[in-house]
Amino acid sequence: MPSGYGKSHASLKVWFWRALRFFHTRAREVLAIAKALLSTEHPFLVHIIPTRRCNLACTYCNEFDDFSNPVPLEEMKKRLDLLADMGTSIITISGGEPLLHPELDEIVRHIRRRGMIAGMITNGFLLTQKRIEELNRAGLEHLQISIDNTKPDEVSLKSLKTLDQKLELLANYAYFQVNINSVLGSGVKDPEDALRIAHRAVDLGLTSTVGIIHDHNGQLKPLGPREIEIFEEIMTLSKRSFSRFNDFQHNVARGKEHNWRCRSGSRYLYICEDGLVHWCSQQRGYPGIPLAQYTPEMRHREFYTEKFCARLCTVSCVQQVGMLDNWRAPQTLKPMPMTPPAAQTELMQIGPARSDS
Ligand code: SF4
Ligand code: SF4
Repeated sequence: MPSGYGKSHASLKVWFWRALRFFHTRAREVLAIAKALLSTEHPFLVHIIPTRRCNLACTYCNEFDDFSNPVPLEEMKKRLDLLADMGTSIITISGGEPLLHPELDEIVRHIRRRGMIAGMITNGFLLTQKRIEELNRAGLEHLQISIDNTKPDEVSLKSLKTLDQKLELLANYAYFQVNINSVLGSGVKDPEDALRIAHRAVDLGLTSTVGIIHDHNGQLKPLGPREIEIFEEIMTLSKRSFSRFNDFQHNVARGKEHNWRCRSGSRYLYICEDGLVHWCSQQRGYPGIPLAQYTPEMRHREFYTEKFCARLCTVSCVQQVGMLDNWRAPQTLKPMPMTPPAAQTELMQIGPARSDS
């Protein structure tokens, strides 16, 4: 069911449009899953970056700068057209901070115009009632905010205290589905924070998920007994989310490696601000090929390529995409050595880290 009133003060009009958008999006998601089960020839989920710039500077983050210009709208549209022509089902706009892009609404409209499901990951700081209503009109379908703690600290300003007013605005005015992600694990000072954040989200009629962070060496480190209790409670709270079907996180919580087939580069693509295709936000630099030159054969090869980082992976959205194909097509190929294209100025291969995804 769509998010209801909870403790929010959504008007009947908002409730009506929210319900309508919820059922419309769910129906399209079911069709997208059916299409993905029938054919492996198209991407299911793509993260696209309209600007690398962010208005915050979380100390753990490797996905932002404070100077990049936004990607011009026409260029964004060209990239979205290429993705639509590949048969992509879902586009998630990420960053940096996507709300810093001056033509974000037009990007959302173009995703919808091309028949794809439109989502966004944001830190939420720039949301206002007016901005939420503009995103409603543009046709946004999903929005996710990650909240790191209950009070801002030297690591992250993304706290419940700072963002609570934004969550209320979303609960009162958003037609689109809103998910609040909290975190547990290495570097999180007070695990009870995750529970407080999740309960506040659910009280407001929003959905809630929890991410688990590895330690700085990228090693799987089991959560403590209380953290596991909190983790299981939040997973129960997030009963409306597809993530509950994903046993990957249950394994990570207990420090177990996960045996799965990462289909990044094929079913999942990460398109950076330079328009290059990467495996994911944490493996930027490979394959590093411009989207316009990324052929069906390359996607096909990546589908069968075993990813060396899979067992320690923290990227839950790619894990969920992997569930579509874990039951078929064992991965027998090794990554191809590639010559970086001229447009690429930097190769990055980054260990597990906390990210908004
Ligand atoms: S985690 Fe998100 S909000 Fe924080 S610096 Fe990175 S992109 Fe910005
Ligand atoms: S880090 Fe995870 S999502 Fe990224 S390429 Fe490796 S296994 Fe896939």
